[in-house]
Amino acid sequence: MASCLFCQINNRVIPADIVYEDDACLVFKDIHPKAKVHLLLIPKKHIEHVLDLQREDAALMGHMLYCIQDIAKVQPELQEGFRMITNTGSNAGQEVYHLHFHILAN
Ligand code: AMP
Ligand code: ZN
Repeated sequence: MASCLFCQINNRVIPADIVYEDDACLVFKDIHPKAKVHLLLIPKKHIEHVLDLQREDAALMGHMLYCIQDIAKVQPELQEGFRMITNTGSNAGQEVYHLHFHILAN
């Protein structure tokens, strides 16, 4: 989606500090970190948020959870524990309408 900030990061139109990538997902550093390590894990597919998921996206979501083990190899701080947050919709203060998981570690 051309107007979407995170699609633009995925398409290298806007620069970001990318720490992990595979066929289906991308991880980059949040530009305004709220913790010592603050990453954003996104699917490459444009999905607005959790309530926009289709049944066919179930395998993609499982893949994203599973690949955190590989992300932790390049961000070893995660091995000591971390929080994952996903804001869904305006009541949750979602700012970027491309599904993302905040990964936060102190
Ligand atoms: P949310 O409020 O859950 O939609 O979170 C959006 C997040 O994207 C915020 O934590 C922002 O700091 C972050 N963000 C916004 N623009 C950029 C950018 N260009 N590169 C990296 N992170 C960004
Ligand atoms: Zn997008």
